[in-house]
Amino acid sequence: MGKVGFGYDFHRLEKGKGFLLAGIKIPCKYAITAHSDGDILLHSLADAILGAIGEGDIGRYFPPGRKFTKDISSVRILGYSLELARKKRYKIANIDTTILLQEPKLTSYKTRLSESIAKLCRIPVELVNVKAKTTEGLGDIGRKKAISCYAVVLLERR
Ligand SMILES: [Zn+2]
Repeated sequence: MGKVGFGYDFHRLEKGKGFLLAGIKIPCKYAITAHSDGDILLHSLADAILGAIGEGDIGRYFPPGRKFTKDISSVRILGYSLELARKKRYKIANIDTTILLQEPKLTSYKTRLSESIAKLCRIPVELVNVKAKTTEGLGDIGRKKAISCYAVVLLERR
């Protein structure tokens, strides 16, 4: 029996020199405001994995506002959720993600983002899909004040 998990994340954007997605620096005129390193792609993915195994969310293990989570690498957060899934004898069947942002265009990054997620999860890149969409200029995301991300993961028994 497979287990499906869903994750969502949202962060404010401010003027800056770029932000992290799946551990890759995306140079642009914006930065993500966050207590951690603000990697929304990894945050939503970690939440999806925790959701699939019924282990709450990343806030349970890495609460925002605490000293030990200040600027914490999201690679560690993802690694923790993967470890919990592994202990419950689950492995990733596939991952699908959608990033919502107005700028910059991520077209040229999608392959690298998929490869990075695959590497961090130690799975073949064919099992990872990364999509990016704008909100056609509407709302906080359209006004470049925010960025969000959705992730779905299917886990199967090892
Ligand atoms: Zn986040």
